[in-house]
Order: sequence, then C-alpha cells, then structure tokens
Amino acid sequence: MSNSQTLKSSTKTSAKSTPKKTGAPAGKVLKQPATGPVAPKNPGHDHPFPRTEFLTTVARLRDTPGDAVAEVAFVGRSNAGKSSAINTLAGKTRLAYVSKTPGRTQHLNYFSVAPDRYFVDLPGYGFAKVPEDVRKQWDTLLGPYLQTREQLKGLVVIMDSRRPLTDMDWQMLEWFAPTGRPVHVLLSKADKLSRQEQTTMLRAVKADLADLGCPVSVQLFSSLKRTGVAEAASVLKHWLGLCDNVVESTSSDDAGSAPDATVAAIDVGRNDDE
Ligand code: GDP
Repeated sequence: MSNSQTLKSSTKTSAKSTPKKTGAPAGKVLKQPATGPVAPKNPGHDHPFPRTEFLTTVARLRDTPGDAVAEVAFVGRSNAGKSSAINTLAGKTRLAYVSKTPGRTQHLNYFSVAPDRYFVDLPGYGFAKVPEDVRKQWDTLLGPYLQTREQLKGLVVIMDSRRPLTDMDWQMLEWFAPTGRPVHVLLSKADKLSRQEQTTMLRAVKADLADLGCPVSVQLFSSLKRTGVAEAASVLKHWLGLCDNVVESTSSDDAGSAPDATVAAIDVGRNDDE
C-alpha cells in the first residue's frame, strides 16, 4: 500500500488485519482547531498532568529540547481523539489544539508536563493530501525521531475504539516495534461502545497485538467520560520517571462507568464520524 493513500478504517470487530510491513504512516494536512470548547463543569477533577504547557514546535530533529530527561510521544489516525486525550490528561480544554494550527500540523509539538519531561504530539496520519511532503517529513523528522530519540520512553497510539487497528495503525506499530520501546494503546471514544462491546474490543485488540514484538499494553479511554485517565496516567508517569507504580488494567469495566458527575474536558460531538 502506498504511503500516500488515504485509508479506509477497518470495521472488523476482531480488529485483525493483515499486517502491512512496508511504508510509513502518512501525515495529515492542515486541520483547523476545533471551536467552542465545553468548559469543564467540575474543575475540581483530578487531572494527572495539571502543569502541562505548550513548549515549542520542532521542525528539525536538532531542535528537540536538549534538557529532556524523558518524553512520551502521541500518535494516531486523524480524528482518533489524540488532541482530546492530551487535553484530558492535562485538564485543559484547548491545549493540544495548538498542534492543529497552521505551520504545526506536520511537526513535533512539545508540551512540558514536568521539569524536563515532555509529551510530544506527532502529526496525525490518514488524510494526507500532499503525500510527497509527508514522505519527506517522515524521512527527515518523524522516522529519525521515533528511531533515534534516546529520551523517547514510549509511544502512545490512539485509536478510535469503534474501528481500531487500521492499516496505517499497523504500519506505525510494526515500524515502531523493532525499536524495542513500549507501546500503550488508547482505545478512544469508549463511551461510544456498550459495556459488552468495550470488553470484546479490548480483548480482541490485546490478542491482535500480543505478538507485536515490543512491550505493548492496551486500555479503553474516553475523554468525554474521563474514563481510563488514571490507568493511562499511571503508564505515562512510569515512563516519564514521575512515579514507580503502574496501575493494573481495569479497562474491561471502567470505560463506560464514570459517575455522572464526571464531565468532558473536551468539545465532543462535532466531526466525530469521519
Ligand atoms: P485528533 O484529530 O486525533 O486530535 O482528534 P480530536 O481530539 O480533535 O477529536 C476528534 C473528534 O472526536 C472531535 O469531534 C472530538 O470531539 C471527538 N472525541 C474525542 N474524544 C472523544 C471521546 O472520548 N468521546 C467522544 N464521544 N468523542 C470524542
């Protein structure tokens, strides 16, 4: 499959796809920031990375922050819910939309979460309209970053829980796995699935990724319901060296069970179904 192709998402429940061994995921072109965020109605929520601030946009590998001790990268198909997930972890409604502003969509967007610790928002893939530019960017920036950045402690891959493991997700995962660094999959928008569907999908994705060849964990996540946040935070803090404990997965039951008092830190419901 060509890197430049716009891929149709898999709709298989088992999520089992034929692995694609060649090529790298394409990036997306400009997407305007979402408008009209819904202000959190309960600002007292615990957000695991409350000090998160946008730091810088990096277009060349040599411009990555030199003081970084540890960083975690976020990647996913466009519209998978990556920005919303970062915003939810930080408890800030607009934070990661900065990555969608002109001049930043194809670069590495750095967010400082703690001293010398960073989230790195990578370009979304799947809707490339200028494939040559995307390929160039991959070869000169994203590929080398993911393969050589020593401070990169793990990769968070965000997938819409209704259609995970698209061909481009497989490309990304199989390209990254040989680095030996861990992958944590967020099955986003879990609120869109019934409890039964959540359980089935979580199991299916875990099974499909069991032989990936690098450490991999999978969980359900909903920015709307703010479920799966503690589990994700536990993994990320561990990777970043911010704490030592990793919470065992409870995803099979927690993603649809947020108390009513929990509210979205995002503006959901727009452009959700591509
Ligand atoms: P990105 O392109 O991967 O950064 O995706 P966004 O974070 O911009 O989200 C894409 C769309 O999905 C937006 O319309 C969001 O409101 C919606 N969305 C994101 N997270 C959730 C979620 O947890 N639940 C629901 N129902 N919608 C979500």
